[in-house]
Amino acid sequence: MYRRRAARLTGGSRYTRATLRANASGKVFGITFDDGYRNVFENALPVLNRLGFTSTNYFVVNQFDGGNVWDAQKGVPHSPLMSVDEMRNWAAAGQEVGSHTLDHVHLSEVSPEIAYQQIAQSRTELGALLNTEIGAFCYPYGSETPGVREWVRKAGYSNATTTVRGLVRPDDDLFGLPRVTVARSTNIFRFLQKCLTRLEDRRLSG
Ligand SMILES: [Zn+2]
Repeated sequence: MYRRRAARLTGGSRYTRATLRANASGKVFGITFDDGYRNVFENALPVLNRLGFTSTNYFVVNQFDGGNVWDAQKGVPHSPLMSVDEMRNWAAAGQEVGSHTLDHVHLSEVSPEIAYQQIAQSRTELGALLNTEIGAFCYPYGSETPGVREWVRKAGYSNATTTVRGLVRPDDDLFGLPRVTVARSTNIFRFLQKCLTRLEDRRLSG
């Protein structure tokens, strides 16, 4: 249904803190999308609306109405990203807007100054566009260090998701939430296996 880009499940929705802390034994899930693709706006939003589900989409602030330019060198096909208007409509429909930096950079590979600017300024700009506080952050490529997590916290976010595979546990760091990837190839049985068993939990291995 979601062409090309996968959705991910996590506890990292806007309700993260309350849900993870209060309903630790319940079957709680959050739906997240990375990068702000237009095909998510066109294909996923009507389904989310119909089912009454909320989700979080992590936007690349300097690429509104642009594309996944960071993928070009790897030969990944171009895919358009939402415009500011579409992002506002996404938010107006009750879906959450999170930050995925200004330029989709490897935060652990750029200088601390640039990393902090990518983290903090993207939050400020998204907040100004929506006239609201932005709480959710996602590390591009899952690239992070303890220092990067600290800057995300310092910049005012309340949670951050990684590309680490796994189910969220109540005692997880809210700035390092793992996720379960749901790709086009994930059929319903695999989906249930991923969500209801410890299949994805690499932290249990070894
Ligand atoms: Zn991304």
